[in-house]
Amino acid sequence: MSVLDSKIPDGPLKDKWTNHKNKIDLVNPANKRNIDIIVVGTGLAGGSAAASLAEMGYNVKSFCYQDSPRRAHSIAAQGGINAAKNYQNDGDSVYRLFYDTVKGGDYRSREANVHRLAEVSGNIIDQCVAQGVPFGRDYGGLLDNRSFGGVLVSRTFYAKGQTGQQLLLGAYSALNRQIAKGKVTMYNRHEMVELVKVNGKARGIIARNLETGELERHSAHAVVIASGGYGNVFFLSTNAMGSNATAAWKIHKKGAHFANPCYTQIHPTCIPRSGEHQSKLTLMSESLRNDGRIWVPKNMEDVLAIREGKLKPTDLSEDQRDYYLERRYPAFGNLVPRDVASRAAKERCDAGFGVNETGEAVYLDFASAIQRYGKQEAAIARIENPSAEEILKLGEGVIESKYGNLFQMYEKIVAQNPYKTPMMIYPAVHYTMGGVWVDYNLMTSVEGCYCIGEANFSDHGANRLGASALMQGLADGYFVLPYTIGDYLSNDIRTGKISTDSSEFVEAEKEVSDRIEKLMSIKGTKSVDHFHKLLGKAMWEYVGMARNEEGLKKAMAEIKQIRTDFWNDVRIPGDKNSLNTELEKAGRVADFLELGELFAKDALHRNESCGGHFREESVELDGMQKGEAKRDDENYAYVAAWEYKGEPADAVMHKEELEFNDIELKQRSYK
Ligand SMILES: Cc1cc2nc3c(=O)[nH]c(=O)nc-3n(C[C@H](O)[C@H](O)[C@H](O)COP(=O)(O)OP(=O)(O)OC[C@H]3O[C@@H](n4cnc5c(N)ncnc54)[C@H](O)[C@@H]3O)c2cc1C
Repeated sequence: MSVLDSKIPDGPLKDKWTNHKNKIDLVNPANKRNIDIIVVGTGLAGGSAAASLAEMGYNVKSFCYQDSPRRAHSIAAQGGINAAKNYQNDGDSVYRLFYDTVKGGDYRSREANVHRLAEVSGNIIDQCVAQGVPFGRDYGGLLDNRSFGGVLVSRTFYAKGQTGQQLLLGAYSALNRQIAKGKVTMYNRHEMVELVKVNGKARGIIARNLETGELERHSAHAVVIASGGYGNVFFLSTNAMGSNATAAWKIHKKGAHFANPCYTQIHPTCIPRSGEHQSKLTLMSESLRNDGRIWVPKNMEDVLAIREGKLKPTDLSEDQRDYYLERRYPAFGNLVPRDVASRAAKERCDAGFGVNETGEAVYLDFASAIQRYGKQEAAIARIENPSAEEILKLGEGVIESKYGNLFQMYEKIVAQNPYKTPMMIYPAVHYTMGGVWVDYNLMTSVEGCYCIGEANFSDHGANRLGASALMQGLADGYFVLPYTIGDYLSNDIRTGKISTDSSEFVEAEKEVSDRIEKLMSIKGTKSVDHFHKLLGKAMWEYVGMARNEEGLKKAMAEIKQIRTDFWNDVRIPGDKNSLNTELEKAGRVADFLELGELFAKDALHRNESCGGHFREESVELDGMQKGEAKRDDENYAYVAAWEYKGEPADAVMHKEELEFNDIELKQRSYK
């Protein structure tokens, strides 16, 4: 029998969450005042959780490594957040959101979790509107929606291209209210570097004050990890440069299983890499695919002429263009899910049709949308026989009102005006669906240690649909954890304060201090970034958009070697007792170097293509789906949760079989 108990409640799917909430133990308000909770992370997941738990009466200690909670990476989210409100009256429902999310995730997520996510999605919007989040509204003042990839309805709420920023400001203001009331103690510029377990339970953390270098012991009755995703294991990604896996990895090493590390989302619409010296990639929100059409030239001569600067994309007529998504997937067109769109771009570029110097770019073109909107606006304004200039101006105005900040960002980075010439885009690492394994209550396999938001293995299965991460982070933080954690803490009402003088805290602190000492004493010749880049290259080459057995074995060996070299030859200038960003990076890269190998090991064992994990050995050979990813439900319909055993290569896998009672497993087809 599996060691994993997902604790999915019994009963019909639609009643599970309600029944569970009705039955779980509660902590009375007076007792909540005697209970401490540590929350690591102040993004949408951690910020909303800390604010909610404090509002409920618990004493919360909140940690982030930035100088302010509002700088968490969630602030970068652009496109929107899903909710089954059916404001558009286009047939949406809780069931449809549930269905789309399970299907979009290629049937590799838990039905019960996803249904709960869909159920609470509407509450999230109400909560955020009450906080004053300025969601986009339509002409009549009602909340507006747009579509995202992989669905046939409009259910995405947005605030221009700054949805994450506005949502985070909402969560941050709720958090600040609790900080002012003394219910949340905020530790900015503090990095959690170890979990402390007492009698098998999570009872605290060791944090490093990043300004003074001091190590601090913090105790609590429960620890919540909300530290975000690990996409930066690839070095280049759309994540914030500071995003890292350290908190998640430290709890993994202390007993929390790590699930499906190989499930990574490669986002189809990012600004292409310009060369070797780049340290960050920029996302162009998927919302742009609502109006942008993706294409490459049909003829190779045109591709070459464009690359040489002899031809402009706008010189090509419609019949000289290959709108390959519309051609291959007529039902969903440019709005196919991200994994499908990314692979299709790679396929065209691998075939030589990439339109920039590196050969890794396709066009995202707004010309038709500008025309369409321009004509519509002219009709609304009762302009008879509008001129071409008038249509263009009106159309560009609509595009600006929808995506203005994204267009501005693109122009600043690429120095081209996307209103006049198509954007160039290429897939980039964006989101990690894998993460710390949690049960239905969001508890990890370490008692009393919870994990929420992108850091957990989440509800997205093998692929995340657009606008679902914000929904999941806020569902976890506002509406799930605040209930489920009470069930555990109800046993702690007589425990009293947890001392930080116990041998467990002393040992954990020593572990950290020895590790830092070791890093500082290497005094090698290569920078931390040097090793991080090598890791990223190995990851992208062998564990990126397409993977095969030979490459994955190579990746495991290479990453192990890079890790050995890192521990022999890394150079960390400065000292450990003051602000030292190189030391911070070194600790994070050391963890990435272990996680990267486990990632490749997980990808190697999963000999099927599913969602963001594409195995070259597993493709459809015949019929309508020829060339598409081939899932293997008979052998791989499970969550792979890895137990730490020292070297990443020695990790032991535990399977959580996935049961589908309410959804029939079908081949995903967007044709
Ligand atoms: C460019 C971009 C655009 C996106 N757009 C969308 C979108 O439109 N819609 C959507 O649904 N999703 C989007 N996503 C995904 C979404 O933004 C993230 O998945 C989500 O915001 C993650 O939230 P989080 O709270 O889990 O983590 P984060 O926001 O990453 O927060 C992590 C927190 O943990 C803290 N932390 C980390 N490690 C430690 C440590 N060791 N010690 C102390 N603190 C620590 C950090 O300081 C931070 O406060 C986008 C992602 C990117 C990269």
